[in-house]
Order: sequence, then structure tokens, then C-alpha cells
Amino acid sequence: MLRVTFLGTGGSLPTPERNPSAIIINREGELMLFDCGEGTQQQMMRAKTGMKALSSIFITHFHADHILGIPGLIQTMSFHGRTEPLKIYGPHWVHEFARILSSLGYYKLKFEIDAIDLSPGDVVKRDDYSIVALKTEHSIPSLGYALVENMRPGRFDRQKAIELGVSPGPLFSKLHKGEAVEVDGKTINSEDVVGEMRPGRKIVYTGDTRPCKAILEASKDADLLIHDSTLASDQQQWAIESMHSTSEEAAKLAKEADVLKLVLTHISSRYSDNPTQLLEEAKKIFDNVIVANDLMELDVPFRDKN
Ligand SMILES: [Zn+2]
Ligand SMILES: [Zn+2]
Repeated sequence: MLRVTFLGTGGSLPTPERNPSAIIINREGELMLFDCGEGTQQQMMRAKTGMKALSSIFITHFHADHILGIPGLIQTMSFHGRTEPLKIYGPHWVHEFARILSSLGYYKLKFEIDAIDLSPGDVVKRDDYSIVALKTEHSIPSLGYALVENMRPGRFDRQKAIELGVSPGPLFSKLHKGEAVEVDGKTINSEDVVGEMRPGRKIVYTGDTRPCKAILEASKDADLLIHDSTLASDQQQWAIESMHSTSEEAAKLAKEADVLKLVLTHISSRYSDNPTQLLEEAKKIFDNVIVANDLMELDVPFRDKN
């Protein structure tokens, strides 16, 4: 499973409809938060994401609307008896942030916080995927993130394997894993029955930013691009000054990068209850686009059937 749940989709300020920024990704049962605005833990409860499996929080930048939910969330997890360490990644200053977190108030956390500073281009390697830190353009040091899954084995030609005399069972899985097998003194190589390696899935999350090169490059052929879309095009000048993007700019980048799907988020409070203008302006440029809503869930499937 690769599921994205939008916990907070508002820009800068909470509104009755939208919490500040937070996205949770469930990848095969592991939870990762990208930004954690005020109220994120209650949104997690409403979305029934759970908290126990949360391995990491990736912070795009230290504006309050992206981090204020962290103190409450970690206190709740500690209260529930969490003992596993929590990794918090972000632009430099994450160490200082973690130190402040653990000295807030009188509570003592029951688990460790591993603070990890990231610079643009840094790659966090996990078993089956990586998280790449991307250089974004905002008013303070900031990062975007790309979740990139490893290549997967190619398609297994079951029929051909049977024709070559291989019986379904353990030999099938050996072949699929790339090993050769022997049947009646004859060697059958993996390449004979397994197609070329296939790409995994890719999700890019920009955080707050102007449209920029690193996001464009990382978004090439992404399955999902979640882009800053704070303002409409009549606010272009303010988008430049406040270092955010318009929905039109997000759509242009999505088109150029040839992404499969674009989700607009970080919606300014002025469009909070009616983001139609943002959507319409984006749709003129890139068709497969939606505006995120709080508690919206999106599953990201493999492009080809398994
Ligand atoms: Zn923001
Ligand atoms: Zn910001």
C-alpha cells in the first residue's frame, strides 16, 4: 500500500475548513509525516491513521504552520507508552528544535528523538525506498521531499516458465528473484522468463516554495506531485513576494515534468471554503489536478498491474 492522507491543507493560518500543513504517508504499514502543523494529532485520530507506526517526521521548514503540531503529538505518543525512537528530519536547525522540544514544560519523553539535519541533495536510504531532500525557494531555509521507491523485479511470464518445464512453486520464486534454476539437466535463466526491472512509485511534496528547478527535475514522471498552491493568478505579485506558488504555476510545472497527478495544497485562507478559482486556473494547463481537502485520502498504485 502507498496511501497519502492530507491532514492539513491550509496555507499559513488554520481556518474552520483547513488545518495547517501536514501529510501522512502510509507505505506498507510504515507511517511518515511530512510537516506537522497545529492540530495534526487530532487529524490523525479523525483519519484513523494510527500513531504507533510513525517512524519519521520530515519538516520542510521551520515556519510555525508546519511544525506547531509536533510538541503535542510527541507528548501524546509518550503518554501512550511509545519507546521506539522517532526520527525528525529537516533543514539545519532540526537539532536545536529537538532540544527545545525535549525541554518544553515538565514532561519527560519516554522515547528518544533522533534529529537529522538534511541539505539539498541528501538521500535518506531505507530498505525499499529513499527520501531525497530537494532545494526549494522560500523565505527561510527550506526543503521539499521526494519519496522514490526502488526498482522492482520485472513481470514474470508464468506461461513461458511452464512451457520451459518449470513447475509452479519454489522454482518460480527463485527465477523471479533473478536466480537460475535447473530442470531435467537444463539450465533456465531468470532473464528467459522475467521481463525488465520496473520502476517503483514516486511522490514529490514541495512544502512552501516558488516553482523551482529541483522540484521540476525530481518530479519527472512522478506518480503524484503535491505542490504549494497558495494563491490564484491575480495574486501573482504577492506569490512572488511571499515566496509561494499560484495554482497556475504549479500546473505549469506538473505539465513540464509530465507527472501523472497533481494535488494542490497550502491553500490560502481567502480560498479556504471555495478553491474553485485555483482549480479552474490549474485545469486550463494540466488536466489531472485536484485541490486537496483535509482528511482526503489518495492511494498511489503501481502504473502497471502486478
Ligand atoms: Zn506554510
Ligand atoms: Zn512557509
